[in-house]
Amino acid sequence: MIKRLEKRSTAGNADTSNGSNKHCFIGPVDGNQNPARRFKPAHPLISAGTLGVANRGRLIQALYDMGASSRVELARVTGANRATIGGIVQPLINQGILVEGDVVPANRTGGKPATKVWFSRQAKPICAVLLMPERVRACLVSLEGEIYAQHDADLTTDLKDASDGFQIVSTCVEEAIAFAHLPVLGIGLAVAGGLNAAKGSILAMDLAPCLHGFPIEAELTKRFGVPVCIDPNTRALLVGDRWFGQGRGQRNFAAVYVGESLGAAIYVDGHLYRGAAGEAGQIGHTIVQLNGRICRCGRRGCWETIASLQWLRNEAQARGLPQPGSLDAGRLVSLAKSGTEGAKELLQAYAFNISVGLANLQQLAAPNCITLHGDVVRGGKWMLELIEENFRELIFNPADKQITLAPGDSEDVASLRGAAGLILAELLDVII
Ligand SMILES: [Zn+2]
Repeated sequence: MIKRLEKRSTAGNADTSNGSNKHCFIGPVDGNQNPARRFKPAHPLISAGTLGVANRGRLIQALYDMGASSRVELARVTGANRATIGGIVQPLINQGILVEGDVVPANRTGGKPATKVWFSRQAKPICAVLLMPERVRACLVSLEGEIYAQHDADLTTDLKDASDGFQIVSTCVEEAIAFAHLPVLGIGLAVAGGLNAAKGSILAMDLAPCLHGFPIEAELTKRFGVPVCIDPNTRALLVGDRWFGQGRGQRNFAAVYVGESLGAAIYVDGHLYRGAAGEAGQIGHTIVQLNGRICRCGRRGCWETIASLQWLRNEAQARGLPQPGSLDAGRLVSLAKSGTEGAKELLQAYAFNISVGLANLQQLAAPNCITLHGDVVRGGKWMLELIEENFRELIFNPADKQITLAPGDSEDVASLRGAAGLILAELLDVII
C-alpha cells in the first residue's frame, strides 16, 4: 500500500504538467492506478498526468545530478518550461522536501537573482532495508543520500517459520526508525530474491526459505503504519547508482549483481525498465550453455550455473583449492597472487564466465555503462581487468567501444540508497 505525498494547492502555482491538484497531503492510492507505479499499464499516448510525473522525475534526477540548482537551471536541464518547474518545485518546498538556499546573483545582462533549491536537511528521513539471503540491514537515509543509524541482524539462525523471520526484520527496522527524530517518510525494501511484484511478497529466497511467499510489504505497512515499497535488490542498486553513483547523468546503463544469484536492472533512455509484470532483469536465467548443468530454476545451462558464487565454490572444491565452501573473488585473487596451484586458472575461468553474460547484455541493450556489484567487486582491479578483457573480445559492435565497465559503490551503500530512492519516487509520484 503506497500513500503518495500530494502537492498542496498553491495560489499562482498550478502544476500545468499534472492533471491532479488535490488539497490532501497524503491519501491512499491504489498502486495499479498510479502512472509512476511499478506495474503501470502501457500508455498508448502520453497523458497530461504522465507528463507531470515524468517532469517531476526529471527534476529530481537533475537535482541529484547537479546538486543545488536554480529553477532556471532546472528548466534548462529538464527541457520543461519555467512555469512547469515552478509548479513542481513549490509543492515540494511546501511539503518540506526541498528548501530554498543560496542566491545566485543577477547577471550583467539584467537577469533577476535566482535562488537555488535543494533537498531539505530538516526533511523526514527514509528507512531503507536490504534483505539478503543470510542477513538483513536497516538504516535511515536522508534525502541527500546520507546513510546513518544502521542496524544488522542475522537470518542464518534456524528460523522456524515466516513469523520468526519477520520478527528479525521488523526488529531491525524498529531499531533504525527509533533513531529518527521525526517519523520516517516510508520504508524502501530491497530484496535479493524472487518477488511477486503485484502482491508485494517474497517468492523465493535462498537460505531463508521460511520467507517464501511471505507478504512482507503488507506486513511492514501494518506494523509501522507508513508506506512500504519492495523491489528486487538489482533495481535498488540501479537507482542507487543512477542518483548517487557511477550511473549519475547516464541515460542508458545497467547494474549487474554477481553473487549467490545473478541479476540485472536496466535503465533505458532515461528510465528504469521493469518489463511486463515487473519481471525484467532476470539475466541469471538466460541460457548460455545448451545442455548445460541444471539450474535452480529447473532448466539447463543458465548463466547462473557457470558464474554464481555456488559455481565458483563447486569448482574450487573440484580443483582442490583450500576452504572452497567460503571462497569468494577476494580470496581467490589472494590465492592466485600467492601462487596457489589452480587458483589463477579458476580466477580466469570465473572472469570469463561472468563476461559471457555481460557481453550478451551489451549486445541486447547496448548500455553506455555497466556497473558491477556483488562478489565481482571483492576481486578488485585484477578481477575487473580480466572481465573487461574478455568482455571486449566477446562484443562485436564497434560503437560499444564507448562502453564502461565500472565497479559500483559497495553493494550495501548503493542498495540502501536505491531502496530509499524507490520509495521516494513512489511517494513523490515520479517516474524513475
Ligand atoms: Zn535458471
